[in-house]
Amino acid sequence: MQEDPTSDGFWLYDLRVDTIVAGGSAVCRHVEGESFRVEGELLIFDEGQKVSMYALAALLPILPVKQRATSPNDWISTDAEIACPDPNCGGRFRVTRTDKRWFSHAETTGLPDSRKTPYWQKSEDQA
Ligand SMILES: [Zn+2]
Repeated sequence: MQEDPTSDGFWLYDLRVDTIVAGGSAVCRHVEGESFRVEGELLIFDEGQKVSMYALAALLPILPVKQRATSPNDWISTDAEIACPDPNCGGRFRVTRTDKRWFSHAETTGLPDSRKTPYWQKSEDQA
């Protein structure tokens, strides 16, 4: 994920988040094998896939960090499982970097002096 110094862009990893159940028991609704994807700012659920909002609240702060390039020695690069915040629940989320996607600063910032057409308004493919 080499940066081009002449570009205003940056790379983010796409993520896949898979539900697993440690020890075979979950308190919240965690169904092993369910998943969703993260592409840029979007959480993308295939039909029928669900996630507990309480568990999602614990997972959300990790996702933007996992999207960014990190040192291979940083724990965030190696540790992939996030536990459900209920201490009695075996629900876990395995976060996997799948692909990478390029974004333009001008198409993603809210800064008035830097802003251009938002990336999601440029093409239906990215919406
Ligand atoms: Zn849980």
